[in-house]
Amino acid sequence: MDLGLTNLRALVTAASRGLGAATARQLSLEGASVAICSRDQAHILATAEALKAEASRPVLGLAGDVSDPRSAEALVEQAAIALGGLDILVTNAGGPPSGPFEALDFAAWEKAFHLNLLSTVSLIRAALPTLRQSRHAAILTITSYSAKQPIPNLVLSNSLRAAVIGLTKTLANELGPSGIRINSIMPGWTRTERVEELMAARARQKGTDVETEIAAQVAAIPLQRMASPEEFAQVAAFLCSPAASYIHGAMIPVDGGAILASL
Ligand code: NAD
Repeated sequence: MDLGLTNLRALVTAASRGLGAATARQLSLEGASVAICSRDQAHILATAEALKAEASRPVLGLAGDVSDPRSAEALVEQAAIALGGLDILVTNAGGPPSGPFEALDFAAWEKAFHLNLLSTVSLIRAALPTLRQSRHAAILTITSYSAKQPIPNLVLSNSLRAAVIGLTKTLANELGPSGIRINSIMPGWTRTERVEELMAARARQKGTDVETEIAAQVAAIPLQRMASPEEFAQVAAFLCSPAASYIHGAMIPVDGGAILASL
């Protein structure tokens, strides 16, 4: 199936590695012109080079911090100027720290609010004027299955992902009449560098190894394994593409069945 992504222009944030990088790679392989960002210039340029080599298409690497609204605006502006417009915006950011409610102070809440909710608001606000000029405008927010099924010890993520989903659903109503589609993917456990690091830390703490910790984590997932970043990215690229032209306001789990509720 041709997704119709050839020559569409996309900005994928927080994409020097993990889900963001995999999404940028897939969009690029499908023929889109892609800009990516993360805070560290050396890392983002290295990822841009690697993606460019694989897809034989230019990939623009930009340094910026999406949790800072001014930086988020500048990233959108630089991407739109360099790409000659914008059709696709994928809002991604790093994850907030783990911990139970009583271990997290107000500063931790404020930081997570800036990283995971306000970043989404700033990026979308900045991109809307440019997206309105596209015939194939699409926004994808990356959240977590924790919005539907809270993960123990992750109160910041559980709370703020739900807020981003409320924002996504509200914008579906407000932007639909302009033809701007917006959806969210709620990823389940996906084997990115961050998850590898998390499992390695658990293994060190318990005196086990990474594979033992992964096996313990996936025991409650019906598919009994984690996703690969590519499995996530294929869904992301589809949702951003004209092939998904009637999918709007949808919260799509890519979680191997981890969300146990029926609805
Ligand atoms: P990751 O740590 O591997 O990658 C995060 C990327 O974001 C990196 O490129 C990092 O440089 C960049 N980044 C972090 N903070 C940034 C900021 N303030 N501004 C710009 N760039 C920033 O993480 P991942 O596993 O790819 O996860 C991506 C997001 O999806 C996270 O929010 C994570 O919590 C969420 N998520 C991941 C999983 C999973 O299993 N991997 C599951 C559910 C939700």
